[in-house]
Amino acid sequence: MKEYVPTIGLEIHVQLKTASKMFCRCDNNAEGKEPNTVVCPLCMGFPGVLPVVNATAIEYGVKTALALGCKINKFQRFDRKNYFYPDLPKAYQISQFFFPVGEHGEITIDYLGSDRKTRKEFKVGINRVHLEEDAGKLIHTKDATLVDFNRCGTPLMEIVTEPDITSPEEAKAFMQELQRIVRSLGVSFADMEKGHLRVDANVSVRPKGQKKLGVKIEVKNMNSFKFMEQALKHEIERQISALEAGEKLQQETRGWDAKTGTTILQRVKEGSIDYRYFPEPDLPPIVLDDKQINDWSKEVTAELPSALRAKAEKTGLSYEKICELQDKNALINLLVILDKNKKLDPTVIANYPGASSEFYKWIVEEKPSNSVIRQVFDSISSGKKFKDAVDVVKIVDHSDLMVMVKRVLDANPDVVKRYKAGETKLIGFLTGQIMKQAGGGADPISVTDLLNKLLT
Ligand SMILES: [Zn+2]
Repeated sequence: MKEYVPTIGLEIHVQLKTASKMFCRCDNNAEGKEPNTVVCPLCMGFPGVLPVVNATAIEYGVKTALALGCKINKFQRFDRKNYFYPDLPKAYQISQFFFPVGEHGEITIDYLGSDRKTRKEFKVGINRVHLEEDAGKLIHTKDATLVDFNRCGTPLMEIVTEPDITSPEEAKAFMQELQRIVRSLGVSFADMEKGHLRVDANVSVRPKGQKKLGVKIEVKNMNSFKFMEQALKHEIERQISALEAGEKLQQETRGWDAKTGTTILQRVKEGSIDYRYFPEPDLPPIVLDDKQINDWSKEVTAELPSALRAKAEKTGLSYEKICELQDKNALINLLVILDKNKKLDPTVIANYPGASSEFYKWIVEEKPSNSVIRQVFDSISSGKKFKDAVDVVKIVDHSDLMVMVKRVLDANPDVVKRYKAGETKLIGFLTGQIMKQAGGGADPISVTDLLNKLLT
């Protein structure tokens, strides 16, 4: 069998979390609302209505394009993409075809391989980032198809990558980083299961050594990272075995079927559709100035997930731990805490992400032992208040403390003798010895109490 090289390009749609829709004042949050209640004449496509561009959507689009290393088009314009579909009542979609937000980007993705140990890196070119409006939703029931227009006019950002991805693992790493980016910029909730982040992939395979790309096949319906990885793996294997069996592949669209774990033919592509794009006559072009773009650029650079990882690496944490914390959304918080408390040991704190500031303050001030920190953290995690958690640790340690006190007294018979002879200030020395053994996990007052009891 020949060796084959897969080539993957992605087309991603990101729902923006602006307050209102792309071109009207309707609430952009239709989640859980009755169908067709978050609509107006504009997003329903009534004739004679006039759209107005959502300025926040432009900001979010530019920020994302900047984060993806794109060149920003200072002149942007919306175009009409003409097609009829039952969930798009005006029979055209307003999109940016000729002048997208950004083009010619590139991003380096560093990630932890599937063994969760090996650090890997690859580059992906970004073909374009453009803005458009979403369509409604068709709901298929047993005996009818219903249409819900609530989603009509929701701001969408489309991101098209170059075919630079060479494995399902890389595709997943790219999507996970993109999700982190749009979340950290605050432009989208980016929840794949809820459709805020949708991905289609163009997949082809070619024999190793061959320059010309193989036949491109589009895969849709991958609504989680896991499904995307499975779908791409399956599609690559399917194409390879078809070629090995001497079959000829054709350009087509296939859908991932999670039940059978296969991709299923949806339609064969016969030439590209002519959408008859033309400039949207109801919207003036948008012209951005350099200052605005520079200001946004500064905000973006400070928040990038890759920048956070780099910052975290400087604290001495392992890349593995950093990735783990970032996956738990705990990395920013950790960096803020370390910034505020220079005395904290990053490797200790990294085990307790998400705790309260009084917990971290307590670590700095009381210097408790690691086992005591763990006990307090666990009881806070199980719902105890910080103060109660700390008190419990002291009670728990009480029996151990007795053992420690006795051990210290046995080890210092002459000090005990001198104390009993009247040198009472030696209690300070003994308390210190016991505190040392308790690793800071003991309360000095109870230690002195115990000593007084045992020495009289
Ligand atoms: Zn509306």
